[in-house]
Amino acid sequence: MAAAVAAARNGSRVLLVEQYGFLGGNATVIPGWLGFHSVGGERVVGGIPLEVVERLQGEGSATRFERDPICGSVVGVDPNWWKVFAAEWVAEEGIAVRLHSRVAAVSVEEGKVRVTLACRGALEEAEAKVLVDCTDTGEAARLAGAQLTKGRAADGRMQVASWAFTVGGVEVPALVSYLQEHPGDARPFPECDLGDWFQRLPEREVFVLGAFRSLIRQAVQDGLPLTRENVPGIVFPGREEFFTVASRVEEVDPGDPASFSHGELAGARQVRPWFRFLREYVPGFRNCRLVATPHQIGLRETNHLVGDYLLTGEDLLHSRAFPDAIACGAYHLDIHSPDHPGLETARPPCYRIPYRALLPAEVDQVLVAGRCMSATHEAMASTRVIPISMAVGQAAGTAAALAAGGGIPPRQVDICRLQAILRSQGANLG
Ligand SMILES: Cc1cc2nc3c(=O)[nH]c(=O)nc-3n(C[C@H](O)[C@H](O)[C@H](O)COP(=O)(O)OP(=O)(O)OC[C@H]3O[C@@H](n4cnc5c(N)ncnc54)[C@H](O)[C@@H]3O)c2cc1C
Repeated sequence: MAAAVAAARNGSRVLLVEQYGFLGGNATVIPGWLGFHSVGGERVVGGIPLEVVERLQGEGSATRFERDPICGSVVGVDPNWWKVFAAEWVAEEGIAVRLHSRVAAVSVEEGKVRVTLACRGALEEAEAKVLVDCTDTGEAARLAGAQLTKGRAADGRMQVASWAFTVGGVEVPALVSYLQEHPGDARPFPECDLGDWFQRLPEREVFVLGAFRSLIRQAVQDGLPLTRENVPGIVFPGREEFFTVASRVEEVDPGDPASFSHGELAGARQVRPWFRFLREYVPGFRNCRLVATPHQIGLRETNHLVGDYLLTGEDLLHSRAFPDAIACGAYHLDIHSPDHPGLETARPPCYRIPYRALLPAEVDQVLVAGRCMSATHEAMASTRVIPISMAVGQAAGTAAALAAGGGIPPRQVDICRLQAILRSQGANLG
């Protein structure tokens, strides 16, 4: 969405292609957008993602930003209204759309990209000067000839996937009392200083948990087949809802139809034990009911582009300076480990993302943004969140417009000009 809007606003004719029947990607499942701010409270993401949130806040479809001692900040965005907003937004920006259309083949010849779209039985051809791949798996770039790697550098293992769900009817005051009385049972990393987080819980419009470790231990002893050692989730007191990614499925590979199908069903089958756990063990959930399930299992990690630059966890942790910075982040390196049922973290200062991480090493006329850009397992554990993905998307769309307008490959875009435009359109480049 951010790439398409940025390209259109900077003078391009845009065709946005989406395999499902609605726009908005995984953010239509995730009701809490994390990482607009650093833990210190500095806003590190601006531009299009901030504009979206402010517009949704203006119509009452998003909460205020709440500071968080681990995630920096969280803002609750109603996924249903985000989906409606996305449909309105493409009309407002004059963006052509193909829904129910998968990118099935791509070729790059003589400065042109030819794409075959498959819509059920129908095939459609499209031609463009630049292709921006925001497929989350890098599928379109791969079809164009780009190299991709999967998962961790050492062994190819990926962060676990989750079939997210939301329950309603939560008695939030009872939950808050439990958390205040059992502070060790609220968040996952004991070494993190939570400051006044507990005291301020009753007044928050939204808050993040990684909770119930002791209750899970009890439930597992009682025979419930639970797959994590704490429950990651987000609480929405105003709606009395709790969104959770409690389910945990290892090695879901969307490039392998059997693995992808198994992952979807295994994730859905984990909902019932977790629902039972919430109802029977967690204060405030006795009368909760299932109110939302996803259109697809959430894939935290799949493929990584082999780009002109590979962004690493060290780059983030040392806030490496890049002359071609096009976006910033400060979200922690949030790893849902494939090795154990817990979470891992490392906390970076505000860091920058270089334009070269969007450029496939061996292919022209293609840019890659979102969670499949050129970043390691560790780096993308931070850059993958919605605000940062959108910020990178804005940069990719803007660069695509400059390349298309100038009749040059994206690799030859004038970085200073790109940065100046991004800054003038609200982006934070550090
Ligand atoms: C379980 C889980 C929980 C998360 N929790 C949070 C959270 O609490 N807060 C937060 O900020 N972030 C969270 N994230 C991260 C965030 O949701 C994603 O990383 C982010 O949305 C990535 O954006 P994207 O645009 O790269 O990919 P997506 O949002 O996945 O968008 C990719 C789009 O491309 C489409 N597509 C894919 N292949 C094709 C094709 N061949 N042809 C046509 N269309 C195609 C897809 O249908 C999709 O609409 C979570 C992620 C997961 C998986």
